[in-house]
Amino acid sequence: MRQQSMFFSARVDEKLADVRLQANLRKVKDNFVHVFAAAKHDYNQEADFEALRDAGAAIRKRVLDNLDIWLELFEQNATARGASVLWARNGREVCEHVVNIARQHGVSKAVKSKSMLSEEADLNAALSAAGIQAVETDLGEYILQIAGNEAPSHIIAPAMHKNLDEVADLFAKTHHTPRKTGIPELAREAREVLREHFTSAQMGITGGNFLIAESGSVALVTNEGNARLATTLPRVHVVITGIEKIVPTLEDLATLLRLLTRSATGQSISNYVSVLGGTRERADPEGPQHRMFILVDNARSGLLGSDMQPMLHCIRCAACMNHCPVYHSIGGHAYGWVYPGPMGSILTPMLTGLENALELPQASTLCNQCGDVCPVRIPLPELLRMLREKQTARGLRPFRERALLKAWAWLAERPGCYALATRFARRYLAWLAGGRDRIDHLAVVPGWSKGRDFPAPQVRTFRDLYASQQRTHCRGS
Ligand code: SF4
Repeated sequence: MRQQSMFFSARVDEKLADVRLQANLRKVKDNFVHVFAAAKHDYNQEADFEALRDAGAAIRKRVLDNLDIWLELFEQNATARGASVLWARNGREVCEHVVNIARQHGVSKAVKSKSMLSEEADLNAALSAAGIQAVETDLGEYILQIAGNEAPSHIIAPAMHKNLDEVADLFAKTHHTPRKTGIPELAREAREVLREHFTSAQMGITGGNFLIAESGSVALVTNEGNARLATTLPRVHVVITGIEKIVPTLEDLATLLRLLTRSATGQSISNYVSVLGGTRERADPEGPQHRMFILVDNARSGLLGSDMQPMLHCIRCAACMNHCPVYHSIGGHAYGWVYPGPMGSILTPMLTGLENALELPQASTLCNQCGDVCPVRIPLPELLRMLREKQTARGLRPFRERALLKAWAWLAERPGCYALATRFARRYLAWLAGGRDRIDHLAVVPGWSKGRDFPAPQVRTFRDLYASQQRTHCRGS
């Protein structure tokens, strides 16, 4: 698993000071927030987007409540159509399966369409170690690959942190071509380079937006058409996806697609939707001779039946990060692993261990922008709060924070002491503020006040105000 070692706070400092990244991040708001609002508005002219969200949430809950049954049904139907289904407990097993398949079928080159699971497994490194060339064909992923195998910073726009100038430089340097600055010219250049890889690769590797149990097939949603080429030209197609991606029927798929594309890119439908199952038949002019599904657990089954199960409802639309003020400020790389934004702040600790992502559940203002837009109604702020509680219960929070909370709890149980302490604290904070309305450094919590200002206290405490109101009320009655 590729995980950055630098502490979250250090990464945040670095990202906040990165002027170019800050400019690039403004695109998130411009590109996604407005188009989502417009798509929702359009849908509401003819139907009810909130009812669609309810339907989507119900489908995801129905699947997750009986996941084993739907997975078995998927396996039966997929194998009946000639595909193979393999199971992987973790990223290591994903890599082993893919490398074994590649060796069995004499594969020296694989074209990849975007797959977050292959990022979880760090598959490209494993393929490279096995002497197999892996070529990313999603434009964003391709840019990151030629930039030196950078990690994606957004789940649907992986190269979101790069601007046009950076891409133009990268293409000219990598392709040894004159520098181009128009998006159509750059896209054409990428297309020309990638076509050659599509026609010469023996294996196509994709993720899967959804697996349909009743048909044993995978649904792929893209805007570039690269998944179509990766799944039809090479003779072997490998789908790598999480076990939670199942939907029972094609009708359920239609409901979730309506939600996914609007929430992701504001489109009523994406440019390409492919539903693929089985293998090439005798009369088919194209299609793979072998199709394998690798269904990955990687700590997901541990969430089933727990209070964190709703996180498995996620359909990876990215709406939560597109609307998150924290993501807007620090970008995706600051989150340190595959998944950024509010969904990453929950998934990363759940999939890699709470103790390995201590700061992520705190990386939220709990403003509920994410919960408001999540198409399958995942209560993201509630889950973040629950993770914070788990951290505290396991004694994972820093000593200073725990000591402060203990002191506060002790005082809160003793109203007289509490009143005295708040009176002293108010005077001390007023002295620190020195007439300003903000305090920019608190010695008792230096880390906390490094990134935020603390409001200067009001002249009178709430208790003083309440007592004086009570006195006025008594005199009046
Ligand atoms: S948590 Fe909700 S909003 Fe965020 S990516 Fe998943 S489905 Fe989309």
